Amino acid sequence: MPELPEVETIKENLRNVIKGKRIKKIEVRSARAIKNTSGKKFIQELKGDTFKSLSRRGKYLIFSLKSGRSLVIHLGMTGRLIHSKTNEGISDYNKRFSRVIFTLSDKEILHFVDMRGFGGAYLIPKEGLKRFSRLINLGPEPLSREFTPQAFKDSLKRHKARIKPLLLNQQFLAGLGNIYVSESLYRARISPLRRTDSLSDKEVKRLHSTIQKVLMGAILSHGTSIDSYVDAKGRKGSFQFKLRVYRREGEKCFRCARHQSVPGCRGRIKKPSLREELCYSSASLLDRARERAVVIKRIKQNNRSTYFCPECQK
Ligand SMILES: [Zn+2]
Repeated sequence: MPELPEVETIKENLRNVIKGKRIKKIEVRSARAIKNTSGKKFIQELKGDTFKSLSRRGKYLIFSLKSGRSLVIHLGMTGRLIHSKTNEGISDYNKRFSRVIFTLSDKEILHFVDMRGFGGAYLIPKEGLKRFSRLINLGPEPLSREFTPQAFKDSLKRHKARIKPLLLNQQFLAGLGNIYVSESLYRARISPLRRTDSLSDKEVKRLHSTIQKVLMGAILSHGTSIDSYVDAKGRKGSFQFKLRVYRREGEKCFRCARHQSVPGCRGRIKKPSLREELCYSSASLLDRARERAVVIKRIKQNNRSTYFCPECQK
């Protein structure tokens, strides 16, 4: 599912290319993709309008138009926005699952593709964004100035809940999904089962900075292409190569495996010295370390998969 870094990547791809482009033609192939009005009205109102700017809020893309209207798109589970200068630039998959096609001035094409159909487009009238409940009910942006460690701490205090489902709640914090919540908790060494009122100030601070680091890293990697995600040019991201816990059920925990290679190590030694290698390299010790290998577990929380290391996430 596209989360904040993926939606941000698409926004950056499209921001400049659509600016000032007029919508010449709209084809609605699936009425279900238009959420708050009919396909007919959607076409009538948007045709002839011009894209002014593009922004992101949580996992939503907000296209501002010259008329004052806005087009808001949520990518759901498998949504894509594919921009191309020619029809040939659109792959067969994207053509097949295309829900809405915008033909822009200069003959450029923007496809809203959605295989599973959980995403959607919303037509918002002039001044309507301020009343659009899906946006106004969102929690803070995790990379904004407002999201300070103190604000995070206060907000955690107000919600007495398990940390993992709470971080997925868009009204608590906007933009995070299963991938980045799992990765943030792992890297902050906090168990997804912890209750928010049990977190120490130090842990809250660590989780806050880890969330920001993980999101920034994922934006720099242009997102995670683990399912169907590609950017607006059809390119894959690369954060899937940096995942440490998400979808690694049954595989060795990187952190515990590293420490176990040096028996007795409490995590201070990153790489065994030559002396330690010589001491511990006997086959029986290595075998014993392997037997004890800690693996990533998967459990269900609120019907969603949670991946974590029961050994080093406390
Ligand atoms: Zn571990």
